This record gives sequence, structure tokens and C-alpha cells, in this order.
Amino acid sequence: MNITADVLIVGSGAAGLTAALNLAETHTVAVIAKGALGEGATGRAQGGIAAVLDEGDSFEAHVNDTMIAGAGLNDRSVVEHVVEAAPRAIKHLIELGVPFAIEGDALHLTREGGHSHRRIVHVADATGFAIQQALEAAAAKNPNITLIPDMVAIDLVTGRHAAHFSTSGAVHGLYAYNRKTKRVETLTGRATILASGGAGRAYLYSTAPRGATGDGIAMAWRAGCRVSNMEFMQFHPTCLYNLEVKNFLITEAVRGEGGRLKLPPGVKGGGKRFMPQFDERAELAPRDIVARAIDHEIKRLGLDYVHLDISHREPDFVREHFPNIYDKLLGLGIDITAEPIPVVPAQHYTCGGVLVDLDGRTDATGLYAAGEVTQSGLHGANRLASNSLLECLVFGEAAAKHIAANFAQLPEVPEIRAWDESRVTDSDEEVVIAQTWGEIRRFMWNYVGIVRTTKRLERARHRIDMLRREVRDYYAHFRVTPDLIELRNLLEVADLIVRSALSRHESRGLHYTLDYPETLPDAKDTVLVP
Ligand SMILES: Cc1cc2nc3c(=O)[nH]c(=O)nc-3n(C[C@H](O)[C@H](O)[C@H](O)COP(=O)(O)OP(=O)(O)OC[C@H]3O[C@@H](n4cnc5c(N)ncnc54)[C@H](O)[C@@H]3O)c2cc1C
Repeated sequence: MNITADVLIVGSGAAGLTAALNLAETHTVAVIAKGALGEGATGRAQGGIAAVLDEGDSFEAHVNDTMIAGAGLNDRSVVEHVVEAAPRAIKHLIELGVPFAIEGDALHLTREGGHSHRRIVHVADATGFAIQQALEAAAAKNPNITLIPDMVAIDLVTGRHAAHFSTSGAVHGLYAYNRKTKRVETLTGRATILASGGAGRAYLYSTAPRGATGDGIAMAWRAGCRVSNMEFMQFHPTCLYNLEVKNFLITEAVRGEGGRLKLPPGVKGGGKRFMPQFDERAELAPRDIVARAIDHEIKRLGLDYVHLDISHREPDFVREHFPNIYDKLLGLGIDITAEPIPVVPAQHYTCGGVLVDLDGRTDATGLYAAGEVTQSGLHGANRLASNSLLECLVFGEAAAKHIAANFAQLPEVPEIRAWDESRVTDSDEEVVIAQTWGEIRRFMWNYVGIVRTTKRLERARHRIDMLRREVRDYYAHFRVTPDLIELRNLLEVADLIVRSALSRHESRGLHYTLDYPETLPDAKDTVLVP
């Protein structure tokens, strides 16, 4: 089966659907998602979106806060562009029906770490869900948009895949695995937008959704696009440690309300707080400091987790302030009013990605990207909270506008060869995929996590090289499955992360290495060229 539209979009989160809605005024669009439409990170976002909407606030203050978080690596012109576009982006969402919280006759604004003013619009503590619903509803109503769930993009289609082979690197669409028919389809269009989210699932513990395997980054890299700043992975300090539930976030508000981080019993210092030794603000130190301290204690003592304890507060207070956490953990056998919560830091956000310009253009003609899949220059070496949904909205629209304005100049789609279905053998060893997947996530967690050393990074690189040979062989001989597609991409992004981390001979923002603890005077992006 061939699917054709003017524009193809990989991803149905905030970036993909924003692009689709903007394009649909003039063009036909097909949006694919690897599973259900709402399964990306967008639907999970809790806090909200940053925008200057208060009289006492200013664009300059939002720009400065973003630049401070980014530790010198942000591109100021990009930051200014995004910050200034924010109020309009919020207005669009309101027009689409997103029910942002109101106070009096104005939007209610909260404040988050790193922001010097109240500027976060939100829908209670489930902002992303409300945005995803509104965008999906608008897209579903639009006759120019075709929404295609359960379609897993495998690779971008270029001149190499044309019936008449050419060396042109222009992108004409993609091959994708249809979960329903279990066949590989060819999707073609004059432009393709990658809006496929981040790569958090390269790590054992991650708050990212199951599908965040860096597919877009890997596909763009294989199609010849530069990838940048992959060493900057943001970790949230407190995610529940549980063998079944690996991505349940314990909000920072628990520490804000007096929660104490302690070593678990059975080790020297067991039951005692450790944060005061690391920072005078103790549990209230910034995210990266708390995450690093927890990681340090876990590695130093060979622990699986540390404890976060709020049980000294009144049970009613705890239940009232943290109803969701209380219920969820009680269901797992932990009564947080009486006992501590086992926690580990978890990967939370991918700052690096496919290099794009202000119009969302990548290095390949016809290929655009927006959202967490990109490195746009906004975040630098560390993302300021609530700037990422904003990036999706601004760059989703920018890519759409650029495509619409330049559609006639984009190359015509040549005849594309169908996917080679000669690999008809089904693997009888699915266990190999599950095993390798687990192995990657574990060594990435242990060797390429919050505190790095050159030796650990080299160890990871060695394992990646070995596994890549195995997976390449596997990929060449067996019929593709969604798990195999993801595994191949996971290895690709793990390699990009490790290579980027090894090439940075300093500690900056989210990249901290014991071998180069200082920050160099010149701030430079890491840019990997295929
Ligand atoms: C728990 C949590 C809380 C957060 N809270 C906030 C917050 O309060 N504020 C904020 O600004 N940011 C927050 N973030 C970050 C923010 O949610 C994400 O950066 C943002 O939603 C990313 O949107 P996106 O459109 O780029 O990708 P996503 O929303 O992740 O969507 C990715 C899409 O790509 C599709 N896809 C991926 N690979 C393929 C493939 N191979 N084939 C087909 N489709 C594919 C997926 O199916 C999905 O539809 C949070 C993130 C998490 C995990």
C-alpha cells in the first residue's frame, strides 16, 4: 500500500499536531504515530507552558532565565524568537479550547525552578493531557488531515530508494511498519516533518513514554543530517524505584513540603539525611545537584535506591497535598504517611537532537523537524522547566509556514521502490531483542548517566560496538518488527550520546564528568556529522 500526502508528519504530539493544523489550511497532511495518537510525552506533561503574560514580567527576564539554565550554550537569537512567540502560542491553544486555569479575569500563572517570575500557564497538574486532547480533536475534525496510528516509521526515503537510483539526499517520505497488516508501507510526500519526540528510553529509568526511543534522531542521522548536543540528558532527581513501575515521577513538591532524602537502612549512615553534605540548600537544591548527589550515594554504596521520606508530616497533610502519589504508592504496598519512598533519579528530557534552523529545516532538502527530536538552540546545556512544550508549538508552526511558503520549490516525488519483502523469515528468538534492549538501558544508566568518567564512557562504547554488529546482522536477516526497529534506533542514539559525551572535555550544564570537572571559557555545541 502507498500513502501519499503533500506533507508527512512523524509524530502526533504537540509538535506534530501543531504543524499539521497550520499546514492543513492549504495542504493535505498525513500524521503517523507508532502507537495510539496520545501516547507521546505531550500527554504526560504536568507543570505547564512558560510564557510572559504578567505585567511585572518581561521577555528579557524569560530570555535571561533560559540562558542561565542553558549554561552558555543557548543561541540567543533562537531564545528571543521563541520567548517572544510564546504569548501568541498560548492564545492559539486557548482558541482550540485548552482550559487553562484562571484566576480572577486572567490566566493563573505558577512559578517553577529557574524562573524569576510567575509565568507558567497550566491546566491543574495535567496540562499536557489537556493540550493533547485539544490538538487531537481539532486535527480529527480537519478534512485535510489524515491521522494514522500504529504506523512505525523505519527509515526516511531518499534518492537511493527511487526506482531510478539517484544520489540525491532529498527526502521524499518514509517506509513504515503497519502494526495492523504487519507489512511495510511506503509513504510519500513533498515534505516530511520529524516530530517524533526524545530518546529517554535509552536509559533504564526514564519518565519518558515507552516509545521515546530516539527514532527520529536515528532516522535523520542515517539520512545524512547532523545531530547535536546529545550528551545533555536531563535527569529528574526522584522517580519511584520499583521493579514493575519504572517511570512514576515523585514531584519536587514532596521535597518542597519537607520530604527528606535518606540512605536506606543496612548501610553506614542508614536512615540519615545526606543532602546537607552536598549543598547548603539540602533537599531544596536545584534538580541537577540533587540528582547528582543521589547518583553519587547510589554508586558509592552500591545501592539500588535511596529513600525519600515525608512520613514525619501529619498523615492528613500528606494525603491532602499528594493524593495521586499517596493512592498510587498505596496500591504498590507503600504507605507514604508511615514509610519512606524508594527513589532513583530518572532520565527526563533529551536536550540534543537533529540540528534545525529557525524554520525547522534540517540538513536534508524536504526534511523538517520540530519538538524534542531537535536541537534548535533553545535549551543549550540544560532545559529550563516548561520551555519544551513551548518549543514544540513555536517550531511546529514555523516548519509548517516554511513548507507552505516554499512548497512549489520542494522536489517532486520520484517513483519509490517498495520495501524489500524478501526477508521473510520471522525471528524465532524474540528473546534476543528483549535481552539486548535491557542490556543497553542498563549500561547507559550505569556508565552514561548523571556522573560520567571517560573510562565508563569507553566501556559503554565498547558494548555498543559489539551489540551494533549483532543487531545489524539480525536486522539484515529477519523480518522487521516494531521491537527490532526500536532496538536498532536505540543503539544508534546510544552511540550518538556516548560519542558526544566523550568529545566534551569539560563539565557544563547536564554533562558532568569527573575527568574534566571544570567548565571551559568557550561554550561550543557538539556537532556530529554523519
Ligand atoms: C513526565 C513528563 C512531564 C513533563 N512535563 C513538562 C511540562 O510541564 N512542561 C513542558 O514544557 N514540558 C514537559 N515535559 C516535556 C514535554 O512533554 C515534551 O518535551 C514534549 O511533549 C515533546 O513533544 P513532541 O511533540 O516533540 O513529542 P511527543 O509528544 O513525545 O510525541 C512523539 C510522537 O512521535 C511518535 N513517534 C515516535 N517514533 C515514531 C516512529 N518511529 N514512527 C511513528 N511515530 C513515531 C509517537 O508515537 C508520538 O506520537 C514533560 C515530559 C515528561 C515525560
